[in-house]
Amino acid sequence: MSASGDVWVYAERRGASYRPVSLEILGRARGVADALKGRLVAITAGPGEAIARELRRFGADEVIAIDDPLLDRYDTRAFTDLLERELRAGDPSVLLIGATRDGQDLAGRLAVRLRTGLTAHVTSLEVDSGGQLVGWVPGFGGGIEAGIVCPDRRPSIVTVRPGVFPLPSPGSPNGGLRIVRPSLCEGDIGSRRVEFEPKGDTVDLTRSEVLVIGGRGTGGDFGRLERLARRIGAEVGATRVATDARWVERERMIGQTGVVTRPKVAIVLGASGAVQFTVGIEKAGFVIAVNRDPDAPIFEAADLGIVGDLGPIVDRLVSDLGGR
Ligand SMILES: Cc1cc2nc3c(=O)[nH]c(=O)nc-3n(C[C@H](O)[C@H](O)[C@H](O)COP(=O)(O)OP(=O)(O)OC[C@H]3O[C@@H](n4cnc5c(N)ncnc54)[C@H](O)[C@@H]3O)c2cc1C
Repeated sequence: MSASGDVWVYAERRGASYRPVSLEILGRARGVADALKGRLVAITAGPGEAIARELRRFGADEVIAIDDPLLDRYDTRAFTDLLERELRAGDPSVLLIGATRDGQDLAGRLAVRLRTGLTAHVTSLEVDSGGQLVGWVPGFGGGIEAGIVCPDRRPSIVTVRPGVFPLPSPGSPNGGLRIVRPSLCEGDIGSRRVEFEPKGDTVDLTRSEVLVIGGRGTGGDFGRLERLARRIGAEVGATRVATDARWVERERMIGQTGVVTRPKVAIVLGASGAVQFTVGIEKAGFVIAVNRDPDAPIFEAADLGIVGDLGPIVDRLVSDLGGR
């Protein structure tokens, strides 16, 4: 087992930039590396040195960039092989990966290859008094938080949910840069792109400063919520009941199964305040809740509570703000 204490963060590329979650993790990982008395290393894979150099602005002691034109999109086999090689050589104590679709795929494969433990989808990280990294995950439907450690194997691999740590601002370039050129050939890539059809507009609620969130109490009238959202420059979010009913797209679900958000203001309309939902707004700066049940648990999570029927309240707000 490695005793280096080094913390590696896999920085997932998205074209010519990085997934915000990777940078969020890098911001938090500095403290983890310091607590483990190790170095912070960012590792990335994709074509181009300029974008690799950009990663030096986020506080790592070293950036390892695996650079090859064939790494222009994620490929399970190639990325696992390349990361495994670097991890075996570098022998870090911890590997942190964003819990994106590709990140989850990579983390699971690396854990099997390296015969080590994987803590999935954590919402916070700490180092305990014994020097173990603890990944906190909501468990049993959000009723408890479980702290998970990987005491005997290294690296301890952890995937982190998007939006749980603040996005750091880039600083001046710092630390070393090591470029790895694997000279891949087509045969090293396990997948082939036949055709590329971009998905339509997608929404990333983890980046929204103001959210208007609807639950079952909206009765499915999200048009009303959209009118309010437009007036105040907000995005629309929803509880699972609302997304399961297909009142809005699945990607707008907030909570344990959905996204964890950190808006400045969240306006929650007709949601009861189940813990699986409130975990997704607990990092909001200010929560306003409207519910016609004065005993609804959402009021415990709210800074301002309004007991009443959401319909007239929202319509009044929209008209006072000069809309229809
Ligand atoms: C493993 C697991 C994971 C889950 N993950 C998530 C998750 O990520 N996100 C999530 O949201 N849920 C999740 N859930 C579901 C969660 O437990 C709740 O069932 C869900 O959040 C409830 O949605 P709701 O508040 O919209 O509906 P309800 O609980 O039915 O609440 C509706 C509320 O609307 C109020 N209301 C009704 N009409 C009006 C009106 N006209 N004006 C004002 N108020 C009104 C009612 O008083 C009530 O409080 C999960 C559950 C499990 C078991």
